[in-house]
Amino acid sequence: MNLLPLPAFTDNYIWMLHDGLQAVVVDPGDSVPVTKALSDLGLSLQAILVTHHHPDHVGGVDALRDATGATVYGPARERIPVPVVRLSAGYTVECLGLRFEVLDVPGHTAGHIAYYCPAMDGAPLLFCGDTLFSGGCGRLFEGTPAQMLRSLDQLAALPGDTRVCCTHEYTLSNLKFARAVEPGNAALLYYSSRCEALRAQNLPTLPSTVALEQDINPFLRVRHAAVAQAAQARDAQVQQEDAVAVLAALREWKNEFR
Ligand code: ZN
Ligand code: FE
Repeated sequence: MNLLPLPAFTDNYIWMLHDGLQAVVVDPGDSVPVTKALSDLGLSLQAILVTHHHPDHVGGVDALRDATGATVYGPARERIPVPVVRLSAGYTVECLGLRFEVLDVPGHTAGHIAYYCPAMDGAPLLFCGDTLFSGGCGRLFEGTPAQMLRSLDQLAALPGDTRVCCTHEYTLSNLKFARAVEPGNAALLYYSSRCEALRAQNLPTLPSTVALEQDINPFLRVRHAAVAQAAQARDAQVQQEDAVAVLAALREWKNEFR
């Protein structure tokens, strides 16, 4: 199986999974890079997986469905271009001989879902849309900090070797913020220099892994003393043992961080 991040717009990735004949794409905000990859690689499109309703994730759905007849899967509780197979937690999707479990991960949007495959070429695979980014998390456009914490906890509980396929290349700016939160985190400093080298060569920093994110991502580390202390130093109202308040303070801090 081949896993490719197709760059789209300025910093989106449309993830493509293919076996040399058939392909699946996730969150095609634009049909053009997908159509080009399909024709360059001689693939037919079997399915389109959508995580949430934002235009940079669904903009190419209609054109791709019309051109290929691919089946579109998406969140039950959001407006996705129809016809769409509506999914929520507990559903599974079979494609390319793989089984994806659907997870409800509200926070960035109210009905956001993620797709988790327990085994793809020997390790798990996660398509998490705009919920989890390397070093960060999505903005809370429609959900609450408590919802986002529950969603991130759910993703952090997946096996450590789960490959995390996020839909944006936000890693360097997220890591800059992460270093402001946790300047003493050695794993974070090491990972930052690795990602800077990758971006200098215009290479993707993704996929990440769950184990790596647990070590470096402040939004997965809200129960670590250093992160909770930093959140309290930023907002004196925050109780360090209140993980929801720590996450909320981090998210607000990140929104203003340059
Ligand atoms: Zn989004
Ligand atoms: Fe997005």
